[in-house]
Amino acid sequence: MTVFRLKILISAGPTRESLDPVRYLTNHSTGEMGYALARAFRAQGHSVTLVSGPTALRAPRGVRFVSITSALELQRVLRRLFVSHHLLVMSAAVCDFMPAQFCAQKIRRSGGLTLRLKKTPDIVASLAARKGKRKVIGFCLETSKWLEGARRKLAAKKLDGIVATYLGPRHRPFGQGKVTMALMTPDGRLQRLNSRPKARIAQAIAKWAQRIWFLDRTK
Ligand code: C5P
Repeated sequence: MTVFRLKILISAGPTRESLDPVRYLTNHSTGEMGYALARAFRAQGHSVTLVSGPTALRAPRGVRFVSITSALELQRVLRRLFVSHHLLVMSAAVCDFMPAQFCAQKIRRSGGLTLRLKKTPDIVASLAARKGKRKVIGFCLETSKWLEGARRKLAAKKLDGIVATYLGPRHRPFGQGKVTMALMTPDGRLQRLNSRPKARIAQAIAKWAQRIWFLDRTK
């Protein structure tokens, strides 16, 4: 039962960082988790805006849908939309690096090629720094020491919660299939969700996020 209809902003999918008019850098994100989250929050009675990078998925019904391509575009859109929402769930797999320069002409295949990259802005950290009463939940994917990595990012990015995901030889979190995740809050609480379908994990995350929002209001 929904006590209060929250306005939830969700980012999902990968970003694409263009090298030239033909090529881009990206990652293996399919957007499944973010889209499952949009459906779960919607099913719990909340109003959802889904900002998505390029995926092969269909926009969930009853959800406001905004499509983006690059990290800089995602940053612009989230900055504009965050003010009118209660909670941001940053499940997008933002590329950590973008080409230092966009080449307006197609890069020719003569000899080798060395790419110069620069860091993309940390979108979730910059939004969390100015969140006021709003809440921000981040995601974190690590190939080793996943819980430590998540705990560090939770504090460094001033998040209200983080969803840690492990990527290893027998744990591939991309696409459909079961995933192992842990939900962590700044008070040190940890809820582990072992090998579950993303739809089930999304329901648990939506309930947990709702608790994060309401607990703060009843203190
Ligand atoms: O890549 P990293 O592990 O730091 O991602 C942790 C969180 O930060 C995720 O929620 C991701 O969406 C966000 N992020 C971001 N801007 C970036 C890189 C990551 O908002 N440039």
